[in-house]
Amino acid sequence: MAYSYEAPVSQTLFDRASRVTPGGVNSPVRAFRAVGGTPRFMVSGTGPYLTDADGREYVDLVCSWGPMILGHAHPEVVAAVQDAVARGTSFGTPGEGEVALAEEIVSRVEPVEQVRLVSSGTEATMSAIRLARGFTGRAKVVKFAGCYHGHVDALLAAAGSGVATFGLPDTPGVTGAQAGDTIVLPYNDLEAVRAAFAAQPGEIACVITEASPGNMGVVPPGDGFNAGLKEICAADGALYISDEVMTGFRTSKAGWYGIDGVRPDLMTFGKVMGGGFPAAAFGGRADVMAHLAPAGPVYQAGTLSGNPVATAAGLAQLRLLDDAAYEKVDAVSAELRALVSEAFTKEGVAHTVSAASNMFSVFFTDRPVRDYEDAKKQDAFRFTAFFHAMLEQGVYLPPSAFESWFVSTAHDSRAIERVAAALPAAARAASEATA
Ligand code: PLP
Repeated sequence: MAYSYEAPVSQTLFDRASRVTPGGVNSPVRAFRAVGGTPRFMVSGTGPYLTDADGREYVDLVCSWGPMILGHAHPEVVAAVQDAVARGTSFGTPGEGEVALAEEIVSRVEPVEQVRLVSSGTEATMSAIRLARGFTGRAKVVKFAGCYHGHVDALLAAAGSGVATFGLPDTPGVTGAQAGDTIVLPYNDLEAVRAAFAAQPGEIACVITEASPGNMGVVPPGDGFNAGLKEICAADGALYISDEVMTGFRTSKAGWYGIDGVRPDLMTFGKVMGGGFPAAAFGGRADVMAHLAPAGPVYQAGTLSGNPVATAAGLAQLRLLDDAAYEKVDAVSAELRALVSEAFTKEGVAHTVSAASNMFSVFFTDRPVRDYEDAKKQDAFRFTAFFHAMLEQGVYLPPSAFESWFVSTAHDSRAIERVAAALPAAARAASEATA
């Protein structure tokens, strides 16, 4: 596909980056390989806008893959960071900021009685699985195809996100020993879960699931799916781990738990709780968390865990996320979803706009999408044409058909109008695209 627009400064930076960094990026999906073209190197962000190295401004519908729910450079978050950074950037000792952030999480998410702070979502899920295995004395882990839990060795089997984007069947470097205890099941299929437990009673340590998946595109759990998982786990003595790295503090004040009310044994968080800094967490039942070092025998640690600057950013962001903020993000999402659907309908493009609270994505199919197999059956080639037409008109979408779009409280009517103005031509490009 030829692109009618150019990004010479980004291209120069990408060439430099490609010489010193594999693929020119520090996280694969950023490289635009699924859609082609030059990845945009961003130099600044304000509210709902990003500006690239060529001086072009975009309405940002990625929001750093979820964290920037207040938009970029929110003044109160910036002030909290400046205040913290002036007092020193890392002490390697306990500090009040991490206590305050832990208290904020515990007060918002009722099943979290105790929480441990880490630096990335990957660390959170890796540690939660280790804890579940240590607590139960069992080895096996159930995950679902299309769910992404970070690049944890044992969880990379049939993962979503970048693994879905690139259609990787498996990741070299993950040994049979590391993945051998991972059971991958189709999403939204309780019968498959029941069968797995029946085949190996007393052997499964935990089921880990995205609370509402956003890494194969947005595919919400069917009615009773999460409750069924909890019930099956409880009956067998396994732990139910809800991965809320993406949904936590985004889909409601208490994340997806605030929506479905199904009480997990352990939960994982990241993204929004870090305010744009590397902060993440796992937590849950106090009797399970008591197995974690130094209270218990399951080891887990981190030089920068609970970092004072990251916790200050996260706390400032969470404290601004009141009911009114969620109402605003939900309203922005609803308005954009309606505009997107209207544009595709006008051009006769088969599509489904799939939403979970304010997270949403577009599948280029009119068949229902309930799992990863359904998601893969869409006309993903239409997304490429759509993506580039939006980019050219100054709207920055996730560069993959298998990712959620994210909005913020900062997406005002001017930003929404800019998206609305770009949609007709982009929908036409999608309708004219060929495989
Ligand atoms: N879990 C989920 C549901 C995610 O969406 C992600 C990242 O996108 C992770 C875990 C991994 O988080 P991180 O990229 O911070 O390691």
